[in-house]
Amino acid sequence: MDTTVFTTIESEVRSYSRGWPTVFTQAKGAVQTAEDGTEYLDFFSGAGALNYGHNHPLLQKALVEYLTSDAPVHSLDMMTPAKRDFLQTFSDVILKPRGLDYKVMFPGPTGTNTVEAALKLARKVTGRQHILSFTNAFHGMTLGSLSVTGNSMKRKGAGIPLTNSSKIPYDDYFNGETEDFMWLERVLEDSGSGVDKPAAIIVETVQGEGGVRAARLEWLKQLSDLCGKHEILLIVDDVQAGCGRTGSFFSFEEAGFTPDIVCVSKSISGYGLPMALTLFRSELDVWEPGEHNGTFRGNNPAFVTATATLKEFWADDSFQKGQLAEAIATVHGALEQIAASVDGASVRGRGLLAGLHFADTEVANKVAAESFRNGLLVETSGPDDEVLKLMPALTTPKDQLERGMGIIAAAVAKVTGTDVAYQPGAGALAAA
Ligand SMILES: *Cc1c(COP(=O)(O)O)cnc(C)c1O
Repeated sequence: MDTTVFTTIESEVRSYSRGWPTVFTQAKGAVQTAEDGTEYLDFFSGAGALNYGHNHPLLQKALVEYLTSDAPVHSLDMMTPAKRDFLQTFSDVILKPRGLDYKVMFPGPTGTNTVEAALKLARKVTGRQHILSFTNAFHGMTLGSLSVTGNSMKRKGAGIPLTNSSKIPYDDYFNGETEDFMWLERVLEDSGSGVDKPAAIIVETVQGEGGVRAARLEWLKQLSDLCGKHEILLIVDDVQAGCGRTGSFFSFEEAGFTPDIVCVSKSISGYGLPMALTLFRSELDVWEPGEHNGTFRGNNPAFVTATATLKEFWADDSFQKGQLAEAIATVHGALEQIAASVDGASVRGRGLLAGLHFADTEVANKVAAESFRNGLLVETSGPDDEVLKLMPALTTPKDQLERGMGIIAAAVAKVTGTDVAYQPGAGALAAA
């Protein structure tokens, strides 16, 4: 397998190709095949950009038909039937049934694009500059997004001071020892605190990159109430946790509040095609025409696969309550069994944004490497890569989920030298 060109021509900035040093030639469903014929089960799903697996046949068919029809591929923000169908379907299938009165903005096709648009809008609407974000947050790699991101290595990459934002503790930062929001409530009410009233608070309901930390639903609700009370806009960055990843289309649905602004990207096209949305309450729509812009806001092939995805998986609750709920039970049942076998290990996350935290920070990386040797792609997360991060496609069949969990259980056993008890099915029943 010739990899010379990657190591000689491609920048040192590449990262995933180092942990998984192989050349992938085929990808179907939950399986990626390498040039040497090795098959890998994919428990990473393009960091959440492939929630419905690789090359889903239905989406592929819609895409190929569109591409060969000579319909516009690129259209800036001009009107096309593909965009009309997407907006109508998103409204009918996602917004209306959830009672969400959101405008839809196309901010450019990446996660960091939608975060930048959200921050800009929050500042424009409120006339305030400051943004609060959380410890261990990840919101993207451009300057505005970096300014609200926690990771010190990524922040340092900016090369300039990252200003007009401060960090506040995420849920359980003090292991439950300090009452949540006590500090924030006090400084917002105290005109002598020296803390500028923020335009917005931006939050991930589950911190994907920052260690697969899931905020408690009541904590999120409290955060929303606090924002409402102080007229601070609440932005939910649902780039990774959204599009079904945590078990519902939006990750905040169960928590019983409505964010002012929502950032959506990774799996909105359903096929791995670049696409992003910024959603906001209609009265926040204070943009002037063209005030925010971008060449690739009209990615019609992505609109086509996004529409097909919404119709196939989200038009009713059969996917959510059926296959998705079962997949979550299978993965969490297995994780509980593995965690119970290893001293100090615990399960993290929500839905299929799931993690295994180990007391020894070396373990997760070694387990990921051992899993790769045994045909499984699984990532690590957290400031010290101390958490094994599992993100199988939501559509992964049960036998493949169990096979992947078996590979992880064996890798954990080998790396930690413990007997890991994993019986497919047993934990799923216990967890149900
Ligand atoms: C991946 C991610 C982003 C950035 O998305 P890009 O497409 O890489 O710019 C922003 N926020 C969250 C929560 C993410 O997981």
